[in-house]
Amino acid sequence: MLKDSESAAQDDPLREQAAQDIAFMRLALQEAQNAYACGEVPVGTVIVRDGEVIGTGFNRREQLQSPLAHAEIGAIEQAATFRASWRLTDCDLYVTFEPCIMCVGAILQARIGRLIFGCLDAKAGAVESLYKLCDDSRLNHRLPVRGGVLAQESAELLSKFFSELRHKKKSSRDTERWPGPAEGA
Ligand code: ZN
Repeated sequence: MLKDSESAAQDDPLREQAAQDIAFMRLALQEAQNAYACGEVPVGTVIVRDGEVIGTGFNRREQLQSPLAHAEIGAIEQAATFRASWRLTDCDLYVTFEPCIMCVGAILQARIGRLIFGCLDAKAGAVESLYKLCDDSRLNHRLPVRGGVLAQESAELLSKFFSELRHKKKSSRDTERWPGPAEGA
């Protein structure tokens, strides 16, 4: 017997989509947790086709010392390898943080069908914040976007990471300063 909420979700495709978006964003958040555990800026991605995850990725910039190693890029490569095709038109990409210029570039190149993201990136976001590259009529691919899915969880994980990083930097500065060489010597 279905609960009322479940049968309502099945009756209403929009509600069903919203529930699915939350479920897949939870998986993207798990990827972000993997990044966090590795000391990386915690951003995670999953790519979904027909309800199945076919690509996952988390930010590995420090580990690989690569400016290209954003979560979205790793997931797109995995999904394209899995499909044996660069065209991911029938795929949805979930990412916990608003994608940057490079990653929206890759999303457009891969012809991703739909983008769902968590919190905004006021400093580098290329979907809403600085640019609106997913909806630019001059480009040859446009796609529907849904932002703000589990935004609070994504933002909290990022601020936890950055506050710990600041704390670490501060304490390493403190130990460098004391009992370091006398200043002005
Ligand atoms: Zn990026």
